[in-house]
Amino acid sequence: MKIIRSPEIMHEVSKIHLFEGTTIGFVPTMGALHEGHMSLVRKAKSENGVTVVSIFVNPAQFGPSEDFDKYPRTIEADIERSQREGVDILFIPDAKSIYSDTFATYVNVAGLSDKLCGAFRRGHFTGVATIICKFFNILMPARAYFGQKDFQQGMIISRLIKDLNINVKLTVCPTVREKDGLAISSRNSYLNAQQRRAATVLYRTLLSISQAIKAGDSNLIVAKKEMNNMLKAEPLISEIQYAGIYSPDTLDEIFELEKENLLATSVRIGDIRLIDNMIVTL
Ligand code: AMP
Repeated sequence: MKIIRSPEIMHEVSKIHLFEGTTIGFVPTMGALHEGHMSLVRKAKSENGVTVVSIFVNPAQFGPSEDFDKYPRTIEADIERSQREGVDILFIPDAKSIYSDTFATYVNVAGLSDKLCGAFRRGHFTGVATIICKFFNILMPARAYFGQKDFQQGMIISRLIKDLNINVKLTVCPTVREKDGLAISSRNSYLNAQQRRAATVLYRTLLSISQAIKAGDSNLIVAKKEMNNMLKAEPLISEIQYAGIYSPDTLDEIFELEKENLLATSVRIGDIRLIDNMIVTL
């Protein structure tokens, strides 16, 4: 496994692969690698000649009061895990090489970026779209892999690719969960034992509402209320940012069932923000 830290060298290496006709599969991450990330790596490996994983805790996607400084950084373990999984290239640039002193260009996917998580994390998705656009230009991947856990992020990248005619095929892979249903996330390491137990309420709630809808409950006002009640019943939840049923095409709240329906929620347990979602297909 190669470790590349310079964007210029990464670009040159990608050019050689392109010239040789080897496709690049790209998995962007912020590190603290876990099974969720590895599921993307496995998918990328099965479809491409070369798999590149980036590890970059992107300052541009964190708000001033967010957890940039304390975000888990486990680089040694990440390198070992990537090697074990058969990653070909780990791209680990530092912030200075990505954002020069004169950096001034941002990519904003208007509309979608302001909904759901975007309403609570102003500027977050501009930071995400900007870094992904830069990485696409540096790596020139044929395919890129994202997780459904960050459903809105996947949609925004999909729109970015379409709107800016970027030649990358995006694949969104299913959410990998712990045995008790909690969506695996690097931020789960912030949870103490009690909070960790409480966090399972997200999955239990999504599953229960999904099952009710599939069984014929079609009143989405009632379903949303029930969803919020289930979350509120967990005393360690300090804030429900949103919990409802949305169109997976527009992220707008829906009041009548469609073929595909997005159940999504964001809550805080203490000051730890957790998100989860589920698609209900009828
Ligand atoms: P992150 O390092 O949290 O920015 O995540 C990097 C990529 O891994 C994103 O595309 C995430 O959606 C994806 N990812 C994170 N957690 C999971 C999970 N539990 N299952 C599947 N994909 C995930």
